Amino acid sequence: MPALLRQLAGLGGCTHPIRLDGHRTEYDVNTRTGEIGNVLHHLDSSSLPAGHLLVRCNNRRTTRCAACAEVYRRDTFHLITSGLRGGKGVPERVAAHPRVFATFTAPSFGPVHNRPTGPAGSVRRCRCGTLHDQDDPALGTPLDPDTYDYEAAVLWNAHAGPLWRRFSTYLRREVAKCAGLTQRAFREHARVSFAKVAEYQKRGTVHFHAVIRIDGPEGGDTPPPAWATAELLTDAIRAATAAVRVEGPVIDGRAHVLTFGRQLDVRTIRSADFDGGQELSERAVAAYIAKYATKGAETATGALDRPLKFLAELAQLDISDHARQLIRTAWTLGARKDLEHLRLRAWAHMLGFRGHFSTKSRRYSTTLGALRDARAEWRRAQAAEATETGPDTTLVLAHWVYAGTGLTDAEAWLAETLEPALGTEGESTHG
Ligand SMILES: [Zn+2]
Ligand SMILES: [Zn+2]
Repeated sequence: MPALLRQLAGLGGCTHPIRLDGHRTEYDVNTRTGEIGNVLHHLDSSSLPAGHLLVRCNNRRTTRCAACAEVYRRDTFHLITSGLRGGKGVPERVAAHPRVFATFTAPSFGPVHNRPTGPAGSVRRCRCGTLHDQDDPALGTPLDPDTYDYEAAVLWNAHAGPLWRRFSTYLRREVAKCAGLTQRAFREHARVSFAKVAEYQKRGTVHFHAVIRIDGPEGGDTPPPAWATAELLTDAIRAATAAVRVEGPVIDGRAHVLTFGRQLDVRTIRSADFDGGQELSERAVAAYIAKYATKGAETATGALDRPLKFLAELAQLDISDHARQLIRTAWTLGARKDLEHLRLRAWAHMLGFRGHFSTKSRRYSTTLGALRDARAEWRRAQAAEATETGPDTTLVLAHWVYAGTGLTDAEAWLAETLEPALGTEGESTHG
């Protein structure tokens, strides 16, 4: 039992680990001759307390695995933070580069119940006459479901990825234009990099939050040109957002054209040194983005976080009528041959959106992979210290096959008795 507890503790709270059958052998290698020597370490899954090697599931969704999603959230936080103030291989000078935090929304598909805010944070009545409570489930749902444009809403989600890609092309063009440069000349002067995250609004449409930064020609390592200011970047973002159009499908004679909504929020990010707690800080931005990186459509639908196999499953789900109608629309459109490329049935549970939750341009900062590698390297170094061998002088032969997912009832019960491995750090998700 203590051995099993130790193995379960190694999962750091993961509730759906991957189970592997196989073995791993570590040999000593003579660094001068290259000869393989003694076996330093041998691990066979059948000799492990759980009978398998258990590996974290690394699922990004809070609803699927809280512990793994927490690791993902923290990594995203570090990724965003290093792009804002340096660290993890990114120079600290990026903190002095012009940076903004922008939120891009979808257009309206029909009036929805809301809580309009007036001056000084006062809340006004909704169009329906009600003063909705903050967590009223009616918020975001249509005032008139019969006239709400479900088809356009689903198609917008399905084209959100292409819309963003086109925006990022237009943005570089607009920044060059504002600076009075041709696009070719622009590349010798500056780079635009970004990190973005998709979030579901209550109405079930995706919107994007992004950190956008101007660097010098070699990215974060080089100073941006003198003309590069947060104001110029803001103007370029506004112009690019307004110009983006993606030709969508023609459905029953109706030609869909996808654009961003008029609601666009662009705010300059200040360094911790200047903000004095008043302005939008690097920390607040990173925490915000990281929080949404671990959420899927279930924040809008309430329950559904995996693909549907049959439409009939919808009836069993405890979700709002609005979410049900969005999913049904995606499912129905998904039957059309001409929309096959949108894979709307496979992504019906995501209300049509099949993009990545968080993406970034290559030069923004470090990568999630690099952070994971660093963590694995650190664990290896620790293990090596325990056996007093350097990581460079060993040869590892391993073979693993997939044996299943999850914990047995007894393991799950035992795992629950363990202290949560993840505490809370300063990087609060609130703010
Ligand atoms: Zn997990
Ligand atoms: Zn209302």
